[in-house]
Amino acid sequence: ELAVENITKSFHGTTVLEDIDFTVADGEFFTLLGPSGCGKSTTLSCVAGLEHPDSGTIRVGDEVFFDGLPRTAVPPEGRNLGLVFQSYALWPHMTIADNLALPLKLRKVAKAEQRRLIDDALTKVDMAHLRDRYPHQLSGGQQQRVALARGIVYSPGVLLLDEPLSNLDAKMRGQARMWLKDLQREVGITTVYVTHDQIEAMSLSDRIAVFMHGRLQQVGTPVEVYETPATPEVAGFIGRCN
Ligand code: ATP
Ligand code: MG
Repeated sequence: ELAVENITKSFHGTTVLEDIDFTVADGEFFTLLGPSGCGKSTTLSCVAGLEHPDSGTIRVGDEVFFDGLPRTAVPPEGRNLGLVFQSYALWPHMTIADNLALPLKLRKVAKAEQRRLIDDALTKVDMAHLRDRYPHQLSGGQQQRVALARGIVYSPGVLLLDEPLSNLDAKMRGQARMWLKDLQREVGITTVYVTHDQIEAMSLSDRIAVFMHGRLQQVGTPVEVYETPATPEVAGFIGRCN
């Protein structure tokens, strides 16, 4: 279970997160949904340890990542999280397999075990046959699958995905949504997913947290959020067509 408890964050005197509080159950697909600039990525960065909240706590189970003081915070590499951010590009000069090997090498995984884990992860996203290609020899959608495989290759406790489908065209996005759902069913990994796309949130999530202006407006299942929006802002955002 991932618990984000009452975190607050400001940049240069402007509050961007105000008292954000939610828990994600083991195996749950939990989505942070909201318009541009509402604080989704900042929340994810705090969970990852790339930023620290000004106050509040963050933990996974009994393991406290952040207890209010940057000095005692667990560093990003100690948090056992898988990160797939839109901007996390693959290394262009390395093959697909070598891109996946990198996080394993950093964790000092033995060579034979590396091979097995890489094959496993690439098979899950249906990319094992392209393991010896270079990133520029893949389509955008294939590269995103590889980025996802790299995010799960060392079996992180929690997977953090920040708009991982955003540079795909509409058709590819639909397909990617489907395999992401399949991947979630198969791997069962606890996932925090960030998007500003209501349809994506509705179709993928067990529960959705709706963000607006740095505040959590509502946390609920897709049906709850859609049928009984907590505020007019949520109703307006959810009902809006892209
Ligand atoms: P988007 O959907 O556009 O990615 P978001 O919900 O992910 O938006 P954040 O990136 O979390 O939004 O940003 C929330 C607010 O915090 C924005 O107003 C942004 O300008 C501000 N912000 C984010 N990072 C920094 C930073 N490092 N320094 C100053 N301000 C920042
Ligand atoms: Mg963002």
